[in-house]
Amino acid sequence: MEKLTVFTARRVRTMDPGRPSAEAVAVKDGRIVSVGSLASMRPWLEREPYDIDNRFAGKVIMPGFIDPHTHFRMSGVFMGLTYLGPIDSPGPNGMNAGLANREAVRDRLRQVDREMANADEPIVAWGLDPAVQGGQLHRDELDAISPTRPIWTVTYAPHVVVANSPMLEIIGVDETTNVYGIERYPDGRLNGQFIEREASKIATRAVAKRLNQPGSGVRAIRSLARTAQQAGITTTAEMVFGYLDFDRELAEHKQAVEAEDFPLRMLLVPIEDPIHEKHGADKATYLNQLKAENTDKLCFHGVKFINDGSYPAMTLRLRAPGYLDGHEGHRGATPWPDLVERMLPYWKEGVQIHSHANGDETVQMTLDVLEQLQLIHPRFDHRFTIEHYCISTPDQARRLKALGGLASVNNYFVHYRSLIHAEQGFGPDRAEATARLGSLEREGVVFALHSDFSLVLTPIAPLTAAWIAVNRLALDGKTVQAPGERIGVDRALRAITIDAAHILRRDHDLGSIEAGKRADFVILDDDPYDVDPAHLHEIEILGTVLGGAVFPADG
Ligand SMILES: [Zn+2]
Repeated sequence: MEKLTVFTARRVRTMDPGRPSAEAVAVKDGRIVSVGSLASMRPWLEREPYDIDNRFAGKVIMPGFIDPHTHFRMSGVFMGLTYLGPIDSPGPNGMNAGLANREAVRDRLRQVDREMANADEPIVAWGLDPAVQGGQLHRDELDAISPTRPIWTVTYAPHVVVANSPMLEIIGVDETTNVYGIERYPDGRLNGQFIEREASKIATRAVAKRLNQPGSGVRAIRSLARTAQQAGITTTAEMVFGYLDFDRELAEHKQAVEAEDFPLRMLLVPIEDPIHEKHGADKATYLNQLKAENTDKLCFHGVKFINDGSYPAMTLRLRAPGYLDGHEGHRGATPWPDLVERMLPYWKEGVQIHSHANGDETVQMTLDVLEQLQLIHPRFDHRFTIEHYCISTPDQARRLKALGGLASVNNYFVHYRSLIHAEQGFGPDRAEATARLGSLEREGVVFALHSDFSLVLTPIAPLTAAWIAVNRLALDGKTVQAPGERIGVDRALRAITIDAAHILRRDHDLGSIEAGKRADFVILDDDPYDVDPAHLHEIEILGTVLGGAVFPADG
């Protein structure tokens, strides 16, 4: 048995509304034994040997932040490719500089083509931001870079693959191919675009080896977890687990996460379509059985459906009046009319459903599906969660509450993307009202904030997400976007701690500082309840504590 360790602090913000503030927290065997003051925990200290740890004495202790939607493994795989994005982005050989415009993208591709010795070796590139860099790439444009060398590109938010003619041949598609998401020019020729999962899966097989070099998965998980820890995070959820190869990804996550110096707990949320293909009628039982593999740090949780496209790649589904340029966006791999039947086995077996819906048409469809599930097999506390919830309406928030659903929201876009998409894609009304947290709060829906890191051109920084939720300041530093959708500091901090834990069905164990819960903390230089909310994101993160073990931010 360990001794008790008592961490003292300037203040402990517990996120337990009944006992919100304290000055010491006692920890043993990875769990919290008592929170209060040295005086209040005297009955423990009289009975157990203890050490006092004053290293955080002038600092503020909060529950470790929880980001309930990330993609570390997949992100890391793209990092080794030729980079085409508009923002500076880390790669294995240091920072890749962002490319300001379309001409710079073409120049980068031409330069790579010139520098490659072997004429047959494909260019495999990622990072295009169609809203900022002049729209999606297409086949003729890439043929003009090279008509002979195969070229394969994927957008920064990896929802659109674009190939040139030699690469289309390798992929094995032609004018006779008829698959949803494999796109054409007005004259009927393939235009090289593969939009969303069903189509992009086909395009990706051709470069699978390049994307999955040995060791890249583990390196990616480790490196992005470190970035998350520096932002004060102690728990994340991988939201497309098994997108490529279930067993391989599990082995990689075990290797990375179970190492003693790995600073996070991770939940693995399997993506549905491969589970459905492989396990059919037994799929829900199979997912429940996986829980036998769970450890303190690595756990299976729920199931993930993807039912429309991306916000920054502008492939989500919008209701009228639709996109500025009239394009329609894309649905996911599972046909919408099949979703009730596809979800029902999980719903009945109590496997929590996380359903990706970025656009308001998809949110509406998802609410219809949830209503059908409730009619067929009524349930309480099912925690059906709409993931992203980027473009929605106030009536949808009200209906989500009525059906007992939750929302895990990417609200970084309000700051980083809303002005861009007022001009490109969604138009001013929908762009301004991105991430309607105020509506969710008014209706009493439990919601979390997430980053989707690192697939959507935004950082992973929960305090920044909270700052955006409270201020809704656009990238110009002065426009307040849809002021009625702002929320208060306490609600925003709940959305990155206890309410995020609720969405991952871990609020009995994580997300607040209470006796019996895991000793997962973030150490802050200042108190987010005291600072001017306009500077919430500037609070310095000094480190984290995971199960009682200290991980300094600069360690
Ligand atoms: Zn995602």
